Amino acid sequence: VIDIRDLHKSFGAIEVLKGVDLAAPRGQVVSLIGSSGSGKSTLLRCANLLEDSQRGEILFEGEAVRWTGEGHGRRPADRRQVTRIRTNLSMVFQQFNLWAHMTILQNVMEAPVTVLRRDRAEVEECARAYLDKVGIGNKCDAYPAELSGGQQQRAAIARALCMEPRALLFDEPTSALDPELEQEVIRVIKALAEEGRTMILVTHDMAMARDCSSHVVFLHQGRIEEEGPPARLFGQPETDRLRAFLSATA
Ligand code: ATP
Ligand code: MG
Repeated sequence: VIDIRDLHKSFGAIEVLKGVDLAAPRGQVVSLIGSSGSGKSTLLRCANLLEDSQRGEILFEGEAVRWTGEGHGRRPADRRQVTRIRTNLSMVFQQFNLWAHMTILQNVMEAPVTVLRRDRAEVEECARAYLDKVGIGNKCDAYPAELSGGQQQRAAIARALCMEPRALLFDEPTSALDPELEQEVIRVIKALAEEGRTMILVTHDMAMARDCSSHVVFLHQGRIEEEGPPARLFGQPETDRLRAFLSATA
């Protein structure tokens, strides 16, 4: 679904991504792990075209992003292509980002109705089904502040699903949650993995990376240091840096 090749990204003079390749084939879950500041969130935001990048290619379903300009002046050339890609890669953030003044149901319905211009009644049916699926079908009329963190994050996942995206991008979806609430969100993500959703999952939680993903990528200072299937990466890390990282997070 997503294929990133030799991506370079700098903030001013500081190069944060130094030639990264990352592919999320259909039905696969790719986890991104690495120390704070290694570039995980930046890579996710570049994939979604929320950040510009200076060099390298991004392909969505085999279709290359078209650029105009070069280096720090490089921008996507086609707004419609950007919208198509962005609406097909739904993002779930650490801080949920729900609208406080809207009910949970309204939150889930908002983008499909206003951005995709889908039929309201049809979206409502779909929104209720996804809220059921993540286990908060009884919270449709509540406001975000009335929900626990784990429930808010599950609402955010339902909102992402309601866009019917080709892939889901998660940036530390459990980092803002208490340990006992983390599990309910992990269960939902695991269920999505098992039904064959394509996902990229940035996480500090090695157990979640091991249990949910088909492929794990270890980023170190803007480069991929090591990658492979979770059993191999966690069981027999090959590089000293990954070994050090894993023993520091254990
Ligand atoms: P964490 O695990 O703490 O979330 P991360 O791996 O997601 O870290 P990024 O947020 O991608 O790391 O940041 C990578 C580097 O880019 C860091 O050195 C950060 O300071 C820098 N950076 C990120 N966003 C910006 C920005 N908007 N302007 C300038 N520098 C930035
Ligand atoms: Mg981050």
